[in-house]
Amino acid sequence: MNNFTFYNPTKILFGKETISNLSSLVPSNKKVIIIYGGGSIKSNGVYEQVINNLKNHDVVEFAGIESNPTLQTCMKAVDVIKSNNVSFILAVGGGSVIDAVKFIAAAAVNNYDDPWQSIVIENNFNNAMEYGSVLTLPATGSEMNCSAVISNSELGEKMAFSNSSVYPKFSILDPSTTFSLPSSQVANGVVDAYVHVLEQYLTTDINTPVQDRWAEGLLLTLIDQGRYVIDNPNDYEGRANLMWAATSALNGYIGVGVDQDWSTHMIGHEITAAYGVDHARSLAIVLPGLLSIQRKQKEKKLLQYAKRVWGVTQGDKNVIIDEVITRTTLFFQSVGISSRFVDYDINPEEAAEKIGNIFIERGQLFGENRDISGELVKKILLNRQC
Ligand code: NAP
Ligand code: FE
Repeated sequence: MNNFTFYNPTKILFGKETISNLSSLVPSNKKVIIIYGGGSIKSNGVYEQVINNLKNHDVVEFAGIESNPTLQTCMKAVDVIKSNNVSFILAVGGGSVIDAVKFIAAAAVNNYDDPWQSIVIENNFNNAMEYGSVLTLPATGSEMNCSAVISNSELGEKMAFSNSSVYPKFSILDPSTTFSLPSSQVANGVVDAYVHVLEQYLTTDINTPVQDRWAEGLLLTLIDQGRYVIDNPNDYEGRANLMWAATSALNGYIGVGVDQDWSTHMIGHEITAAYGVDHARSLAIVLPGLLSIQRKQKEKKLLQYAKRVWGVTQGDKNVIIDEVITRTTLFFQSVGISSRFVDYDINPEEAAEKIGNIFIERGQLFGENRDISGELVKKILLNRQC
């Protein structure tokens, strides 16, 4: 096992009616800004609950954080914070709102000439404004981690940063808030969380049985509960189990002491930046080709995944690996998510060329062995076995 330090300061309040804790969780002497997205919280009653529970606080609002939040929108929120002397942020929404708030929290207390360069590229900060979140979409784990993904619409780029000063102070997870999600967003959440687990699990075989069993438990739960919630959208227990699975997939626990990959996410981010494909769908496009091309490096873990998660043990190694990649792709399809560029009206050859060239230009090598180059990205995106 690799050495590690583990620290996760986010307080989680999970369950029905937990939004009522907001009045005591948000410090009463702070001026608060509520930041949210395009309005889903207004139609499902979450906004009303939040406002009612902050009626004794001094509150301003910023609405309009888009999916795949942009630097440009985040900076507008920073202006509102500065002009209103805000000292506490409450993010209400999905991963996009919480990610945006991480960037905003850093930009609000650090004066940079170029916040994109300093926060996202150089990650050059060690303090941020305090914030909490009310999660409405189980998917990203952003509610209990210190990572965010921000898009720069001027540069056409989408990049992630991680910084320990942007953990939420608290996150409220009330599964009832997710009843209003369309099934396409439930499916996005299931696939995103599933790939988060694989990025930390399908890597080097370095004898980490605790982390492996946690990861396998989450994968089995996401397969089982993901399908269950899509078929039984009004069942609270299903919603609760899915919500906690998605948070647990990327709150740090399963990633301690293991090698981590993240190449599916890095390539997927550029597909979203270039073509506007939803985050989870971009991952579904990349993953099958990536696993197929990296089968030698990932062989032991792929065989373990095949056996323990899918019960696939028959045949030689390559047959088993092909079968488990197919099973994974069919699982994504079973919740309505395709792994084929053409299903998103994208020409695969053009996309492979374009996305590969972005990484060639950056001269970046990534993946757990730092062996994925822009040239290899082209091969990954054209390796369509499903
Ligand atoms: P999202 O972009 O936050 O939300 C997707 C859509 O769902 C929005 O239109 C939103 O509408 C709607 N929505 C949210 N909650 C709803 C509810 N309860 N009922 C009905 N509609 C609801 O989706 P996400 O998948 O959570 O976040 C995706 C972003 O997170 C991407 O940018 C991705 O790259 C990033 N990400 C971050 C991490 C991380 O560790 N930080 C990990 C993976 C991905 P409204 O706007 O109207 O609210
Ligand atoms: Fe993700």
